[in-house]
Amino acid sequence: MTADELVVSDLSVHYGGVRAVRSVSFTVGSGQCVGIIGANGAGKTSTLKALMGLVPRTAAEIRFGSHDLTKVRARDVVRHGIGYVPEGRHVFGGLTVEKNLLLGAYVQKWNDRTRRTLREVYELFPVLGEMRHRLAGALSGGQQQMLAVGRALMSNPRLVLLDEPSMGLSPRLIEDILAVLHRLSEAGHALLLVEQNAKLTFEATKTCVVMENGEVAMTGTSADLSRDPRVRQIYLGL
Ligand code: ATP
Repeated sequence: MTADELVVSDLSVHYGGVRAVRSVSFTVGSGQCVGIIGANGAGKTSTLKALMGLVPRTAAEIRFGSHDLTKVRARDVVRHGIGYVPEGRHVFGGLTVEKNLLLGAYVQKWNDRTRRTLREVYELFPVLGEMRHRLAGALSGGQQQMLAVGRALMSNPRLVLLDEPSMGLSPRLIEDILAVLHRLSEAGHALLLVEQNAKLTFEATKTCVVMENGEVAMTGTSADLSRDPRVRQIYLGL
């Protein structure tokens, strides 16, 4: 086990009588980029929410480095170095870009470290620095997605969970998201990327999990999966 490895073993999520996630297992190594692809309703979002402690779950193990996350309350998961970019961005349109970013620093006090992290986010996403006094609601969809990622980075996470960052974006903006993912990875963050967009995911990650009906249907390197005839037909439309 490496210092910041995420180990998920036998994870299940039930909503009342609905089993949305069934006995899912995977690992994300320190600094690695791992993808989870699957169709609408496959259980991807529920898996991420379960890792964040936002939905009731059972698991043999959810461990990040030396921390047993099954014992950590939802609001404390971020303190252990995991950032979360939820589906649909959820930026506060009536607040400035900078206020949105500072909300992501809620686990820290406004101090030198917060100022340094804010500078780093602006270096990573210069457009956010240029627009820091603008209302978030005035940003384009792609810029709002960058803001949502920047906000998650304000807690200095070592692992970032991203839920469908490409959702609702044009092909050109999806290219921007790919560049963002590469930048995050180069900056040393491990990524767990949940996507319906398999093409983007294969380009952004080294290994991938395919989820179908709440279960892991396949796991492999992104290169191998992108050559698999069934994956190509179902997820790449080829
Ligand atoms: P999408 O790509 O649409 O986000 P997904 O792969 O992320 O899909 P989930 O959102 O995790 O899938 O949903 C998995 C299953 O759980 C679906 O059948 C969904 O209807 C069900 N589900 C999700 N959230 C709830 C909830 N709060 N209550 C009941 N059922 C839910």
